[in-house]
Amino acid sequence: MPTKFEEIVVRERQYLLPTYNRYPLAIERGKGIFVWDYDGRRYLDLLGGLGVNALGHAHPRIVKIIRRQAAQLIHISNLYYNEYQGQLAEKLCHLSGMARAFFSNSGTEAMEGALKLARAAASQRPGKCGIVALEGSFHGRTFGALSATGQAKYREGFEPLLEPVRFVELNDSAGLQAAVDESTCAIVVEPIQGEGGIRLCLPEFLRAAREAADRTGAVLIFDEIQCGLGRTGTLFAFQHFGVQPDVITIAKPLAAGLPLGAFLVREHLANALSTGAHGTTFGGGPLTCRVALEYLQIIEDENLLENVRRVGALLQSELQALASRWDFVVEARGTGFIQALEINMPGRPVVEAAMQEGVLLNSTQDKVLRFLPPFQVKEKHVERALRILRKILKAQSR
Ligand SMILES: *Cc1c(COP(=O)(O)O)cnc(C)c1O
Repeated sequence: MPTKFEEIVVRERQYLLPTYNRYPLAIERGKGIFVWDYDGRRYLDLLGGLGVNALGHAHPRIVKIIRRQAAQLIHISNLYYNEYQGQLAEKLCHLSGMARAFFSNSGTEAMEGALKLARAAASQRPGKCGIVALEGSFHGRTFGALSATGQAKYREGFEPLLEPVRFVELNDSAGLQAAVDESTCAIVVEPIQGEGGIRLCLPEFLRAAREAADRTGAVLIFDEIQCGLGRTGTLFAFQHFGVQPDVITIAKPLAAGLPLGAFLVREHLANALSTGAHGTTFGGGPLTCRVALEYLQIIEDENLLENVRRVGALLQSELQALASRWDFVVEARGTGFIQALEINMPGRPVVEAAMQEGVLLNSTQDKVLRFLPPFQVKEKHVERALRILRKILKAQSR
């Protein structure tokens, strides 16, 4: 008799496109910051569904609001008004200092919309269609978002992509200033590169991007899909860096696990996309928007940003201690609950060993261990995870 786990794996191997190299774990349920596999083993979740489960799993208020709204109205299309889309737009604009919102179903689609908006805003100026983006970035897998993604491994096999795009090294302010000219319609930056290995922009680099955008009339887009919505300890990452973009894209935790993304724009871009110029069937439905309103309210009510700052500081000092003590740890990077440890050996075996010990994290860029914990993680959980990680790293480095 195959186990439940084997049954799941065999079926997927036969019927799914082989696009993922999954970890050998099937998860049955979650509660708070823990998940359980089909054998009833418990795991401390420090990856939070790739930054989506910022409120952990099965938060009682999220479960309740989904139940209530699902029974009332799930979907109605954007041909009609729904009570919650406008309320959510108002709240996000109020919190970010932006003026307008457009809701999508994912981060990628938010990026796609933001790029279309930048093209549309420049459409009266012939030849103003270029995009400047960063090496090592990740913005999604559709042709537009992929075109701004500065990693060969994602692009190979799909060219020609959208053009013209110029890539600049992270934190090369002079290179950025030189790459942006009158033909540039968009500058696209993740304030903290997530998938690229938790690499932070310097404030002066973001200021240079702001200046280049102002000088040429390009639209400055911050992709906060991974680093935004509380993960840095401020609700938006740009507030951490002190540079205001023209467009912000958000998604991952926005509707607490339901698919919802958005891009937020400043008032001067409010009419760049005219009636009928962009749209979506699912985006901004009453269920996802109501859940997102609850997400933002819970962050406030449970004072979670304070927890992210306090426990994030502990995580940071623990990771930095590892980096300074051991040669095989290259560097600790990040802030709040978006942090990483770069090691000089493959990350995957470390991640799988941690899994065996009941802790979930992941590795990106082969040698970077990435932490995107739910916002309720406390000091004792960080201490437990670090005890396990130290043991594993010591054993693996021999
Ligand atoms: C995850 C991610 C995306 C893509 O979002 P999806 O919801 O997977 O489409 C884009 N940009 C960044 C920075 C991300 O982390």
